[in-house]
Amino acid sequence: MADQGTYTIATLGSHSALQILKGAHDEGFGTLAIANRDTKALYRSFGFVDEVIAIERYQDFPALMPQLEKRKLIIVPHGSFVAYLSLDEHKRMTIPYFGNKAVLDWEASRELQRQWLSRAGLTLPRQFERSGEIDRPVIVKLYGAQGGKGYMFIRDSADFEARAAHLKEEHIIQEYIVGVPLYIHYFYSPLENRLEIMSMDRRYETNVDSLGRIPAAAQEGMDVQPSYVVVGNSPVSLRESMLAEAYRMGEAVVRVSKEICGPKGLFGAFCIETIITPDMQFFVMEISARIVAGTNLFIDGSPYSYLHYSEPMSTGRRIARELKNAISSNKLGMVLDDG
Ligand code: AMP
Ligand code: AMP
Repeated sequence: MADQGTYTIATLGSHSALQILKGAHDEGFGTLAIANRDTKALYRSFGFVDEVIAIERYQDFPALMPQLEKRKLIIVPHGSFVAYLSLDEHKRMTIPYFGNKAVLDWEASRELQRQWLSRAGLTLPRQFERSGEIDRPVIVKLYGAQGGKGYMFIRDSADFEARAAHLKEEHIIQEYIVGVPLYIHYFYSPLENRLEIMSMDRRYETNVDSLGRIPAAAQEGMDVQPSYVVVGNSPVSLRESMLAEAYRMGEAVVRVSKEICGPKGLFGAFCIETIITPDMQFFVMEISARIVAGTNLFIDGSPYSYLHYSEPMSTGRRIARELKNAISSNKLGMVLDDG
């Protein structure tokens, strides 16, 4: 059996687990889904999932750690780790983890993330500290990976005073950019020192993506506020003349990450979330330092991953391929964080 066959890739049963485990299986790893009461039957139904451990709630995952530590496991994190575990729990995970945990602090703090992205030369929406400063439409965004839940479109400072001034949750006030949202999925391989664009998506958000179906005149008096709750994703291919800039942005965030988060920097899967304005400028809303759910569109590969691989290569499979290459070249330490 090849070396990777002695390792099991494990992840929480949600978000992009199917993609990650299918990729792990296709690359010759054992696979483990940590599911809950509601999801265990689903994960057991797939032939590429070798084992399912069911826990009561995903938040209970840390209690499983002593049992998992004894095994030859590698955790591949995704959005549910951020949604269900605290930053501390995430960092305290002692099972070998695909990724660099030092990046988590820079990602989790909106302030640090902004410093990172600015230093990489990316164009960011303006940010406002107080309602008195608001001189254009803004979006009020709550902290944490909540899939756009609770975000508010605010027209001006009077609107802010009326609807958002008493908000209890931590939030930021950001310039509202009118344009096309584009989420670019990257993979940076430390083994090959190469950045790849894996795929792209746009999110489908309710109700903001359907407001255009009702003429503005008809909306008058309806008191409908846009909301940004993500419910799905659709594929996009980017105008090819814009691809070089998308690639440059990815290179820049990787380069700066090596300056701020230690020499390993950001590696593996990540996503830059952008909005493109009519002058073809990418405004960057956020960076996700791991596999994002939009990659689920491309379980059998995307037009971009096909250019590199000529075989079905999802982001989940690309992660497993990197782990496999690291094992066979004795460089596993380059792609794991041991806590
Ligand atoms: P879940 O395990 O489905 O609750 O997802 C964990 C987090 O990932 C959620 O809080 C969302 O922010 C995010 N997420 C889940 N599915 C998607 C999706 N299709 N597109 C974008 N973000 C998502
Ligand atoms: P995020 O949580 O940053 O991924 O944002 C979720 C959604 O909110 C995005 O997909 C956009 O539809 C919307 N959004 C976030 N930031 C902005 C912005 N600065 N301008 C316009 N829309 C935004």
